[in-house]
Amino acid sequence: MSHQVLARKWRPKNFDTLVGQENTVQALVNALDQERLHHAYLFTGTRGVGKTTLARILAKSFNCEKGISSKPCGVCSACVSVDKGNFIDLIEVDAASNTKVDEMRELLENSQYAPTSGRFKVYIIDEVHMLSNSAFNAMLKTLEEPPEHIKFILATTDPKKVPVTVLSRCLQFNLKQMTIEKISNHLDMILTDEEIKFEKKALGLIAKCARGSMRDALSLTDQAIAYSGNEISENKVSEMLGIVDNNFLIDILFKISEDKGEELIEIAHGMNDKNIALDSTLIDLAKLIHEISVYQVTSGRNLNLQGDKEIKQLSKLYSPETLQLLYQIVINGKKDIYLAPDLLTGFNTTLLRMLAFFPTLQTEKLESKLVGKKVAPPNQSLEEKKSSQIEVKNEVKETLEFDGNWHNLVNNLKLGIANALAQECEFKAYQNYIFELTLDSNKGHLMQDNYVEKLEESLINHFNKKIKVKIFVDEVKTTPAIKTSEEKSKLLKETESAMMKDGFVKDLIENFDAQVVPTSIEPLNNKGQ
Ligand SMILES: [Zn+2]
Repeated sequence: MSHQVLARKWRPKNFDTLVGQENTVQALVNALDQERLHHAYLFTGTRGVGKTTLARILAKSFNCEKGISSKPCGVCSACVSVDKGNFIDLIEVDAASNTKVDEMRELLENSQYAPTSGRFKVYIIDEVHMLSNSAFNAMLKTLEEPPEHIKFILATTDPKKVPVTVLSRCLQFNLKQMTIEKISNHLDMILTDEEIKFEKKALGLIAKCARGSMRDALSLTDQAIAYSGNEISENKVSEMLGIVDNNFLIDILFKISEDKGEELIEIAHGMNDKNIALDSTLIDLAKLIHEISVYQVTSGRNLNLQGDKEIKQLSKLYSPETLQLLYQIVINGKKDIYLAPDLLTGFNTTLLRMLAFFPTLQTEKLESKLVGKKVAPPNQSLEEKKSSQIEVKNEVKETLEFDGNWHNLVNNLKLGIANALAQECEFKAYQNYIFELTLDSNKGHLMQDNYVEKLEESLINHFNKKIKVKIFVDEVKTTPAIKTSEEKSKLLKETESAMMKDGFVKDLIENFDAQVVPTSIEPLNNKGQ
């Protein structure tokens, strides 16, 4: 089957079929219909967004034998020959290969002559920023006093390199990068018309890879047709593009949230067996984490995400702070992966690092890790804090006197159902065996008789004294809950900045078995609960 290159076959021949540049098209259409013609136009924008395509449609609009119009007829000899690329009054120059001033001068000397067959002589100068200064000067003279029959259409990916004197004489249009959605929909339309089977997700992958360029998207689609045979499938396309099935990455994030290290490593080995490029996969993983973060702040509005459902779920499993931390870990992992003995080791290490830093909300688990294991937390302050807590505990038991540290006391009481109440209380005073406490007015619902009784009971058991509790509901400055939340927030920040320092992460991994600090990092959104 002979196959014409899609980009050429589907190059838009009129404004109606040009995708993704609605604003520019609207402005040009209005100007043409009202015959408000300028003598020089400049189209700017990244590669493959349609600059020269637009220039050619405009050239047809100027020269259509049926009259100047935003809807060139497409059948007159002018329209047909512009489409074929042999219209004698359309001069296309690629400035990237015509930078010499002599050629430019010669070109412009010819511009003095009237058009041979058309209404206007149209000069399309692509990559105009590549012209030499003297070539620009030669062009400027024509631009300053343009003959009536001349139209310049300039295109550039780099307008900053075009002299202001030239810019100021042009009507400028900045063409937009095309969105993944627009590219994907356009491919859908073309393939449907070409009667080529495809999976919609495959088009999403191609569109993503094309980075805003429709031309690249079409050329990738050509490749995909050749590569896939019968049907352009997601699998085939990811194979062709050497990109990872997002499902692997989504799986990884779920396993981390479930604290399933073994399965995490299995996924990594599976990916390695499939010859997936583990180094560039980390970039995809960082992108996915970023997408989840974006989802959190936008609640998924205006997003064009693949696997929306999973991203939504993941956005609920991770706090924004944790996502920031994981993002840093992945980016660092990418940097370090070439220093690892091999890619798989580097990749695994990054996954384990993410797992280590994922906040474990179950405090019992934290405690059990603390006990009996050699504790080597990289964060001194926490180690100190923990050990001082243990000391306090012993002290309290011996002396049975309240040392004024309510926060420590609460953490050492066997509170059961009264824990939430105690956590939200600020210590006011302790005298004559009466604890006076203030309950956070936002937590008034915790003021329940059975909670208060239980708190009293715990204090009595702890101090072995007939203790009473008086609780007032009011505004509070600091409670164990607030303090814990602040400490965690500080710890997370410290950890994050420590992450950035060389050596730290290595130590962490070497001491991986004793990950007390990382697992104790809880998301900040616990604050105020
Ligand atoms: Zn025509």
